[in-house]
Amino acid sequence: MNIILLGPPGAGKGTQAQRLVENHGMKQLSTGDMLRAAVKNETPTGLKVKAIMEAGELVSDEIVSALISDELAAMGDDVGAIFDGYPRTEAQAHSLDAILKQHGRSLDKVIELEVNEEALVDRITGRFTCARCGAGYHDRHKLPEKEGVCDVCGSTEFKRRPDDTEETVRTRMQEYRGKTAPILPIYEARGLVERVDGMASMDEVTASIEALLS
Ligand code: AMP
Repeated sequence: MNIILLGPPGAGKGTQAQRLVENHGMKQLSTGDMLRAAVKNETPTGLKVKAIMEAGELVSDEIVSALISDELAAMGDDVGAIFDGYPRTEAQAHSLDAILKQHGRSLDKVIELEVNEEALVDRITGRFTCARCGAGYHDRHKLPEKEGVCDVCGSTEFKRRPDDTEETVRTRMQEYRGKTAPILPIYEARGLVERVDGMASMDEVTASIEALLS
């Protein structure tokens, strides 16, 4: 199975992708994670994209498509791919077709997480994660049971994404509306799009996705 998870920032693509990895042994291909790793490691790509990401704008199609191509080349043919945060433009959608073909793969489904934009700004601007184990928390909706201590691993170090500020989130939403949402018709024309209510609880969203994949 090769699937795309599509939806605006904060829709829950990353969380749902991780659950698919756990439940089905698929591999999550998140261009956002790959780019953040490049920034952290100060690679040539990381240095190029840092300011663009902090502004909430999209990095070039060539850079992200090359990252995806390299990851797919390194994967076993029998492992399913979950594209999380890619493709985000029409050019990337076309590149993905070519890359998949090159690897003898094809797209099975595009799952769109439908969400309310105002709720997303609230979700994103309060979120933080444990710096050690990655467990997710929220200033207003899910604080650790003991203040300052991760419920899962006991670490006292937490981190926030630098692009999770309200101003940057608004730019990221605009990029989604202007450049990413318009790729849906490409996949609709191929009968690949399924919609899931992304405002439901995380477990309900997972259940809906599982039902689509069975
Ligand atoms: P994400 O973690 O998916 O929200 O991505 C974080 C940031 O990385 C985005 O706001 C963009 O600056 C950049 N980025 C991630 N994926 C892509 C992509 N497919 N195309 C262009 N920019 C991307």
